[in-house]
Amino acid sequence: MSIIKRIAVLTSGGDAPGMNAAIRAVTRCALAQEWDVLGVRRGYAGLVEGDVEPLTGRSVSNIMQRGGTMLGSARCPEFEAEDTRRNALRRLQENRVDALVIIGGNGSQTGALALAQMGVPVVGVASTIDNDLAGSEVTIGVDTALNIALEAIDRLKTTASSHQRAFLVEVMGRKCGYLALMAGIAGGAEVVLIPERETSPEEVARQLRAAYEHGKRHALAIVAEGAQYNAGKLDAWFRVHSAKTGFDLRTTTLGHVQRGGTPTAFDRLLGTRFGAGAVAALKRGEQGVLVGLNEGRITTTPLAQIVGVQKVIDPELFRLASILE
Ligand code: ADP
Repeated sequence: MSIIKRIAVLTSGGDAPGMNAAIRAVTRCALAQEWDVLGVRRGYAGLVEGDVEPLTGRSVSNIMQRGGTMLGSARCPEFEAEDTRRNALRRLQENRVDALVIIGGNGSQTGALALAQMGVPVVGVASTIDNDLAGSEVTIGVDTALNIALEAIDRLKTTASSHQRAFLVEVMGRKCGYLALMAGIAGGAEVVLIPERETSPEEVARQLRAAYEHGKRHALAIVAEGAQYNAGKLDAWFRVHSAKTGFDLRTTTLGHVQRGGTPTAFDRLLGTRFGAGAVAALKRGEQGVLVGLNEGRITTTPLAQIVGVQKVIDPELFRLASILE
């Protein structure tokens, strides 16, 4: 096991509320080990350019309550090329970095595995509001995103009740239906459309109509952005078939507002525990692993076991949603 004197930390891909808590915990836990810490700006783009700053206990103070990431993030498609990663490797060597903590989602952890396979000691931290990363039941940011979605849904329900309208709300999640399913259960939706369980527009219309027939003053459908019939397609279908369905559908796409804002207590604590977990893993000599949360415990899973693996949603949640709808 090589001795660590200096680590670097970066945030990559989509920003997620709670990333700052993770940066803070990585920095302070590493400093407690008497390791130096470098912050890499703008994810892999900054790594390739050697855009780094030393992090101190002071420089990460007062960031935990802020959304986004103090280090900045970026998409860097060139990182898929081995030549680009070799440049990153050179920069790490120039800066005498012994290990790298990579805070990010699916794409970022794919890049982390590629670096690990080139011999760089990396530890990934599961962070994405989409919660589409295998290896962690929940990821940094999804709780905040869910709470923001719920606040919007509650507001829409109030106006929907006043006008007896059907509302369709699209939430994020890429190809994963977790955020939509949870928003549907916690928001009391009549129907939820997710990529893992496709629903036809006819079925959506049937369920929304059934809500009115049961005397409800509003009807709500939640759709994941990755569903086959996303908000755009459903909206178009309902426009064409409004005479048959008997009601209008008002569509709201929440989009990037779900990413912004103050992280919830849960995401601050998760980010903190993950950051501390990453330093603890490095101290134990682990590398090429992802820090996640499973059955209430902080775990590490080899990146090779989770990259390219489709995350599975607990089937019990599907059943629950169907009973409650
Ligand atoms: P997220 O990490 O939130 O899923 P992206 O999918 O945009 O976000 O990925 C973030 C970055 O990870 C990409 O811009 C790229 O630099 C890197 N990345 C993604 N896929 C790969 C890959 N196959 N090999 C190397 N790096 C990758």
